[in-house]
Amino acid sequence: MFIVSRCLIGINCKYDGGNNVKPDVVRFCEEHSCVSVCPEAQGGLKSPREPAEQVDGRVIDKSGKDVTEFFQRGAEEALRLAMDTAERKGEVIEGAILKAYSPSCGCGYIYDGTFTGRRVSGNGIFTKMLKDMGIPVATENNFKEVFVRK
Ligand code: SF4
Repeated sequence: MFIVSRCLIGINCKYDGGNNVKPDVVRFCEEHSCVSVCPEAQGGLKSPREPAEQVDGRVIDKSGKDVTEFFQRGAEEALRLAMDTAERKGEVIEGAILKAYSPSCGCGYIYDGTFTGRRVSGNGIFTKMLKDMGIPVATENNFKEVFVRK
């Protein structure tokens, strides 16, 4: 079973009230066992909401409010949903396809905290949690190379 960022399959959970739908991720979900999560929504944040980015290990929204607790709680809730779903289906979590650059879901690179679109090395809060458990994480940009068997 794979974990997938909910915004990548067209659910309007993004900070601006929209989504990041990627048809090839939707297709992957139709062909594989998947569970969708949105750590920010599951942490209690509404859509639309202020955009937020990581700064020195904390998550700060554009107005300057520290929203780290929402992000941390949401990551824990998303992980719980994924583990419960895998257990119910009698499957193991094979990996995750998460939205690139997000402060929750980014993998390898995230926005740098200046709200200018610049990126720095790093992982989203949820991604880090999965990686610490040894779960492979890819983004919408490289999941085919990582997960689609030749
Ligand atoms: S990137 Fe992750 S936290 Fe942000 S809207 Fe998409 S699923 Fe939710």
